[in-house]
Amino acid sequence: MSSLPKPPGPAPRSTTSSDTNSRNITSQQMDAEVGSVVRSGNCSGCGMCAILDSGLTMQITGDGYSRPTRTASGKRDADALDRFRNACPGKRVAAQRPDGSTWHPTMGPVTGIWAAWAKDPEVRRLGSSGGALTALSEWLVASGSSTRVVAAGAEPANPRRTVSVTIMSRDEALRSAGSRYAPVSVAANPAAIDPNSSVVGKPCEISALRALAEARGEEPPLLLSFYCAGTPRQSATTQLLESLGVDPALPLRDLWYRGRGWPGRFTAVREDGTSVSSPYADSWGEHLGPTIQWRCKLCPDGVGESADISAADLWKTDEGGSPVFAEGEGVSALIARTRRGWEAVENAIAAGVLIVRPIDIADLAAVQPTHRKRRETLLGRLAGTMLTGSRVPRFSGFRLARLGLAHPLALVRTARGTFARARAARSRS
Ligand SMILES: Cc1cc2nc3c(=O)[nH]c(=O)nc-3n(C[C@H](O)[C@H](O)[C@H](O)COP(=O)(O)OP(=O)(O)OC[C@H]3O[C@@H](n4cnc5c(N)ncnc54)[C@H](O)[C@@H]3O)c2cc1C
Ligand code: SF4
Repeated sequence: MSSLPKPPGPAPRSTTSSDTNSRNITSQQMDAEVGSVVRSGNCSGCGMCAILDSGLTMQITGDGYSRPTRTASGKRDADALDRFRNACPGKRVAAQRPDGSTWHPTMGPVTGIWAAWAKDPEVRRLGSSGGALTALSEWLVASGSSTRVVAAGAEPANPRRTVSVTIMSRDEALRSAGSRYAPVSVAANPAAIDPNSSVVGKPCEISALRALAEARGEEPPLLLSFYCAGTPRQSATTQLLESLGVDPALPLRDLWYRGRGWPGRFTAVREDGTSVSSPYADSWGEHLGPTIQWRCKLCPDGVGESADISAADLWKTDEGGSPVFAEGEGVSALIARTRRGWEAVENAIAAGVLIVRPIDIADLAAVQPTHRKRRETLLGRLAGTMLTGSRVPRFSGFRLARLGLAHPLALVRTARGTFARARAARSRS
């Protein structure tokens, strides 16, 4: 585990008469709340707070992650602070128990589960695993079920960077296919709170959007997520490119992290058409994965429990149960968490957009050892962090105590290890 980061909070600024809105939530009050989450290392970079306060902008800060930064006085509703306290995943995350779902202790609520891939071979090829989320995104817009889908993609002028995008056509869906292992703040996109949208985002972005909709008494957009091991630093992409001999000053035509195969290769295409690439096991395992931010190591919900639909790699595994990253035709697991998500998947199947076969949630748990183990030992990690005097977010409904106490040795080992590493990191800083 890497160090406990101490990123800067929003920069202090002087008071002006425009600092207060009509109901007196000041930018200073907002900065105090948001800054305390950022300084504690509990900010996930989801971007939801930038919806609540128009003066906050998500920017890559010195530590390489996306963080809220004050760039203007901005406007806030009277209940912005309450909403922030309820919906910020650096403060709290509450697990949902949708009507009609069964509950798996490490994989979350299940209303339906399938092995799935896009029927369109191009979508399947471009997708991270089976292209199921891209196929759903394209179909949601084409069928008129959603006005748009908010997701993530390469920044056109600088594909080293990842930005939030809006999908309204097949071309836009194809351009945003594939996982991007870099900071991006999908929940900062204003279209992500429109109930006529659908949103594809990381679990923290999705839990923030669901909690915010609940706090506003509104129907959330259709929420799609995926299994997520965490967000790497932006500089990890730069260093990976350097290790492949790419001049940092040269512009790139394209950059993708995986897909175009399963799992596919990290690939950068220079303006002259030449390209470099690295296998998934190296790019994720050696360069990107080791730099994930602290909040992701404390995440109770790497499996997208708050979504209506969550996707994962349905990896093949070796005899020891570890995923095998041999190239092949991609297969996603799709989990409908809610009745609404189940209907969307069934309609997409009926429309011929997805090819599916039934699986059991135990089949998915068996090929996702990282998420299984992380949930089982999270109580120890939280305890070890708190023992150093650091704050952790409040997580409810995940039954972490029951899971942790069922694995007492691993619990104690993890708590000790986390405490030692966090203390060592503090003494270095
Ligand atoms: C940061 C990160 C960590 C991941 N960790 C795991 C893991 O631990 N286990 C696992 O099984 N799979 C992981 N994945 C992969 C993800 O679960 C697969 O994308 C999933 O199988 C869906 O595949 P698909 O082919 O259906 O998706 P696709 O059809 O390829 O669609 C992917 C969708 O995700 C969106 N997206 C891509 N990157 C981001 C991002 N950084 N933030 C928000 N939205 C994004 C795209 O816009 C697109 O809509 C991770 C992906 C990311 C981005
Ligand atoms: S976790 Fe999300 S809502 Fe909370 S401070 Fe960070 S960016 Fe803002």
